[in-house]
Amino acid sequence: MDVIRPASLQDCLRILKTEHTIPVAGGTDLMVNLALNKISPDRIVDISGLQELKEISLSDNFLKIGALVTFSRLAGREIAQYPFCNALREAAEKMGSPQIRNRATIGGNLVTGSSAGDGSVAILALDAQVELTGLDGIRKVPLSLFYSGYHQTAIHNDELLTAVYIPIRPGTSSFQKVGKRNALAIAVASLAIYSYIRDSHFEQIYIAIGSVAPTPIRAVKTDLFLQGQKITGGVIKEAARIIQDEIAPITDIRGTADYRRKLVANLLTDQLQQLSESKN
Ligand SMILES: Cc1cc2nc3c(=O)[nH]c(=O)nc-3n(C[C@H](O)[C@H](O)[C@H](O)COP(=O)(O)OP(=O)(O)OC[C@H]3O[C@@H](n4cnc5c(N)ncnc54)[C@H](O)[C@@H]3O)c2cc1C
Repeated sequence: MDVIRPASLQDCLRILKTEHTIPVAGGTDLMVNLALNKISPDRIVDISGLQELKEISLSDNFLKIGALVTFSRLAGREIAQYPFCNALREAAEKMGSPQIRNRATIGGNLVTGSSAGDGSVAILALDAQVELTGLDGIRKVPLSLFYSGYHQTAIHNDELLTAVYIPIRPGTSSFQKVGKRNALAIAVASLAIYSYIRDSHFEQIYIAIGSVAPTPIRAVKTDLFLQGQKITGGVIKEAARIIQDEIAPITDIRGTADYRRKLVANLLTDQLQQLSESKN
């Protein structure tokens, strides 16, 4: 298998457009798939040297995170200064192992499209957009429309995911996952919440869930119920009931459908209780 190392983004896009090849960033998903013979490309394009995809920058409206930013960086000080991004930092801290976090990129996590992707679930709750770049131009796609099915996304073969745009917002966010063990665990279920509370009521709330559907999903019905509500014991109980009704998880080796429903309800209850105890 040939490995091509493009000198620039333009060079890389030209290769993707004209040759039958696939990109590799950190390689933590791709190398496993190669080893398991799930894929057998003749050539891969190593994008890990593209400096322009490693930046984190703030504009008036967005925090822009380059696709090659690793989970180690996401877990560090650069993200910790933005409370609305807590979910992403917490997801990064809980992801894989130190070795995996040092290599794994946010772009790779999003494009792999695993429903258990910790970065994907966190960013979905932040109502972010992904930037897809090809030789023919740049498209921005809301992450909520990016996933089309099991490991299927809206990216074309000749495009790179170049960045994630997270809207700058006044509230906070959080992420929790439950795995079968403490480290190196794929989520049996995960849940992220962004919320902005004003005068004790939810002015804005977005909930995303992992490992309960073929892709990471938003809990739209639960969002709608909580919007405008004051957090009380009764509201939390009703939200936990609604979220269990709105998901249709499967039973697999990591957990039964019923267990996952209860887990999601518990994760939501826990995070809403923490919000009610904090000033937000
Ligand atoms: C031991 C182990 C533990 C893990 N634990 C976790 C965990 O706890 N949580 C979790 O979410 N994941 C986990 N993973 C999965 C994996 O580490 C992540 O999904 C990671 O973020 C993938 O990023 P990468 O840069 O390594 O992607 P790669 O393996 O390089 O690429 C993955 C896929 O995305 C494509 N791709 C990569 N970057 C781009 C881009 N910029 N544009 C277009 N296509 C691109 C590649 O072609 C490939 O198809 C684990 C993996 C291993 C091996």
